[in-house]
Amino acid sequence: MTIEQAIEGYKKYSGAKSLDAIVALIDMDGVLYDSMKNHTRAWVKLMKKNGIRCTRDEFYLYEGMTGVDTIKMKFREGAGKQVTDDEARALYRVKTRYFSELGEAPVMPGAVRVLEVLGTLGVERIVVTGSAQTSILDRLDADFPGLLSEKRVTALDSARGKPNPEPYLKGMAKAAATASQCIVIENAPLGVQAGHAAGCFTIGVTTGPVPERDLYKAGADIVYPSMDALADALPTLISSLRNARPA
Ligand code: MG
Repeated sequence: MTIEQAIEGYKKYSGAKSLDAIVALIDMDGVLYDSMKNHTRAWVKLMKKNGIRCTRDEFYLYEGMTGVDTIKMKFREGAGKQVTDDEARALYRVKTRYFSELGEAPVMPGAVRVLEVLGTLGVERIVVTGSAQTSILDRLDADFPGLLSEKRVTALDSARGKPNPEPYLKGMAKAAATASQCIVIENAPLGVQAGHAAGCFTIGVTTGPVPERDLYKAGADIVYPSMDALADALPTLISSLRNARPA
């Protein structure tokens, strides 16, 4: 997929009259932080302790769902058990503890460059995550000083997790921007689905085991193999979006 093909495709299905690309709505886990390894380890530990069979790889596919929804689904499918909201929240606190015990997840290679390049292009950078993990949310300002907007969407802002478009719609509202003024940067199929359903030009980045084709299937307009590759492509991509003629 070339940049030109991706933009042509987006214009056709969205009917967007202009593509300003003035706001980037950026997922956190697997995009800004190389944190999915620890998340999937913590999930498997929680499930095993509760006698629910699972693999680490499947949790890469659930990424973007809220923790409570993931727990309810796995207990229902894996143990035929209906978990109440309170029980799910208690289990999520245990998962959160396991995640913290694994230590600090590193900043994703290339993430700082992506944010810097977006900044030089005049693009506002807003984190949109379904996460409620304070151990990682609290690090954003220290790890990306001056590179992120204070506007932020977390699990506290959006009751419905990805693939529901709500988190990205909230991000657009906070930015006071329309879908065609925003780009979404995502690593997970459900996150890509959410960005696409919100109507934004959605960029997939394959930073984990989920292959490129799964992100395209989920609705990605274009996919890059790493955040560094995205940083390299961004100046051309953003200027091509801004120069695209209306459909
Ligand atoms: Mg992610």
